[in-house]
Amino acid sequence: MTMNKINIRHCIMVSVLLLSITIIPWLHADAAQSTENQRIEISMTPPVLYQGEICRIDLKPEQDSEIFWVKYGSRHLILKPLGSHRYMALVGAGIKEKPGRKKLEIKLSSNDHGSRVITKLITIKTKTYPEEHLKVAKKMVEFPPDILKRVLDDQKAVRNACSRITKDIYWNRPFIWPVKSKILSPFGLRRFFNGKPRSPHSGMDLRARKGTPLKAPNNGRISLVRDCYLSGNTVVINHGGGLYTLYAHLSKVMVKQGQMVNKGDIIGLAGATGRATGPHLHWGVSLFGTRVDPAGLMAILGP
Ligand SMILES: [Zn+2]
Repeated sequence: MTMNKINIRHCIMVSVLLLSITIIPWLHADAAQSTENQRIEISMTPPVLYQGEICRIDLKPEQDSEIFWVKYGSRHLILKPLGSHRYMALVGAGIKEKPGRKKLEIKLSSNDHGSRVITKLITIKTKTYPEEHLKVAKKMVEFPPDILKRVLDDQKAVRNACSRITKDIYWNRPFIWPVKSKILSPFGLRRFFNGKPRSPHSGMDLRARKGTPLKAPNNGRISLVRDCYLSGNTVVINHGGGLYTLYAHLSKVMVKQGQMVNKGDIIGLAGATGRATGPHLHWGVSLFGTRVDPAGLMAILGP
């Protein structure tokens, strides 16, 4: 993808942001209580959630109301207070998530009106990602048992490192790019090796020469440092509230597991460790254990 295309995408996302609809749902009237004045403003950016994407939900309850909890499906969301009685939450859809509607429920309470639950339906739509067909040597795709075990152990370690939902939210707007360069390969690319489908690209590849410093895009705690067979030297940052970012193929890691980092801190240097065709940064974003497009994160929370 060229910089022009990125700029066009950025402009499209900004337009979507400006067009994002504000909905003022009336509460489900409870016969026993007058609820006419108990409202909350809910806005979604972008207004529709596509497979593999992330969306921000802004909540503004009326002054006399408090939010008890917010649930998306069966999961309680962690709210980020934005000041002046406004809150933000993030939701994402997996690349293979079933299209349809999913419930967002908000429990509100006020002295005058008691407590009640407001429901908004979030639409998840199908997104078709581009395909890439590659012919590669058999040994590159079929692993002997010892290597396969290592690959599976690595995958499990990365999954575990991204699975904890920390109640504290460490990040602050805006997120910054770990390296500002060209996108070599977008998120979600459906790859076929020798005609056989592989798992879709779980992050985006950014051009980076060997030794390029990689910045933490936001504050967080290092939740994993590991030498993985496929992704090479790998670092995962926990930004809190279920949001994680991942960095792969590093030539040098400059942080330790458990360490706090600030936005802009150098976490390591780009490289080509693991299975990589050349030096680059593979950048991943995980929300509640589901991989989403880093470009989407930057569109809604970026600079
Ligand atoms: Zn990649």
